[in-house]
Amino acid sequence: MALADLQALENRATMGTYARNPVEFVRGEGTRLWDSEGNEYLDFLAGISVVQIGHCHPALVEAVTEQARRLVHVGNLFYTEPALRLAARLSEVSLGGKVFLSNSGAEAVECALKLARRRRPGGGFVVAEGGFHGRTMGALSATPQEAKQAPFAPLVPGFAAVPREDPEALAAAVSDQTAAVVLEPVQGESGIHPLSEEVLHAAREACDRHGALLIFDEIQCGMGRTGEIWAWQAVGVRPDVMTAAKGLGGGLPIGACVTTPEHADVLQPGDHGSTFAGGPVVAAAANAVLEVVTDAALLASVREQGARLLEGLRGLELDARGRGLMLAFRADDGPGLARRLLLEQRLVVHATGPDTVRLLPPLTVTEAEVDDAVTRLAAALG
Ligand SMILES: *Cc1c(COP(=O)(O)O)cnc(C)c1O
Repeated sequence: MALADLQALENRATMGTYARNPVEFVRGEGTRLWDSEGNEYLDFLAGISVVQIGHCHPALVEAVTEQARRLVHVGNLFYTEPALRLAARLSEVSLGGKVFLSNSGAEAVECALKLARRRRPGGGFVVAEGGFHGRTMGALSATPQEAKQAPFAPLVPGFAAVPREDPEALAAAVSDQTAAVVLEPVQGESGIHPLSEEVLHAAREACDRHGALLIFDEIQCGMGRTGEIWAWQAVGVRPDVMTAAKGLGGGLPIGACVTTPEHADVLQPGDHGSTFAGGPVVAAAANAVLEVVTDAALLASVREQGARLLEGLRGLELDARGRGLMLAFRADDGPGLARRLLLEQRLVVHATGPDTVRLLPPLTVTEAEVDDAVTRLAAALG
């Protein structure tokens, strides 16, 4: 089908919630994508930090294919091995408690919010300005952005936002009535803003002082993205509960909410559930991704290629920031530059706002691909 026909179909058949670029992708391999006209692209977005181990990684393709041949779905009234193995492995490489699997990031956040409320009935939530936690009503209520929230008021009550770089304001907002503080250690959607160590430590201390939970949303910054499996590991501030999604399934939809042992049994039978969650196919994919992402050599490569990319951006005199392979730079016209990069240089990136371009390549990106991306950027910047 020609692109114009796809666009006509989109207009006729889908709710107009997305601003799509005029490209139809039909194939991927590693960091490469191909469009329907046969053009080859370098993917430095990875479906927004989702295609964590590259397009069609052989281990993921094999795990999914093999599982799809045997069993696709029975639901959570029965046992299936892939999800239980995944939960055990996820816990082992994170907080050591228990896991609730979901189908998306927002749902992982909903689970964390419900857990915190269940533990401290009626308790409130403290969130940071610039944070993004998802589009469902609970997760949206934790996302203090006027443009996203206003059309859907009234939101879930009980959420208070503080400036993201003010440890005192954060500490002052937490009380004995606080159920949880919810933070992204590195804010993603708002343009790659690592929260300072002071803020993360202040959050930990305030939560300890008032018996509130510290929830880290690692949906975008986790799964090896920053060069550690979880972003909090570099800072040494351990949350009580964390969420993962995006890169966890390597392209298949899955999320997870993980606790420390102390909070492992807050949610009780009947408190929460999901029809699709933990299905054998997505769990098989996530098991394959986790195996690749927890490899020390891969994590070292993320740090190395991330540093190389950051250096490359700064070499172009760009004002760049971020950690590992979670980077962004300032641009006068971010959306315009992203569009030129896509259509003229065939480099896939994303503008998070009018003045910010975000880079999130697959963690398997090679040195040559990093250099290639910097060359394409240099060409687009003219
Ligand atoms: C993307 C994202 C979410 C929402 O995930 P969905 O799968 O789109 O529901 C939540 N938190 C963070 C930090 C994210 O980046």
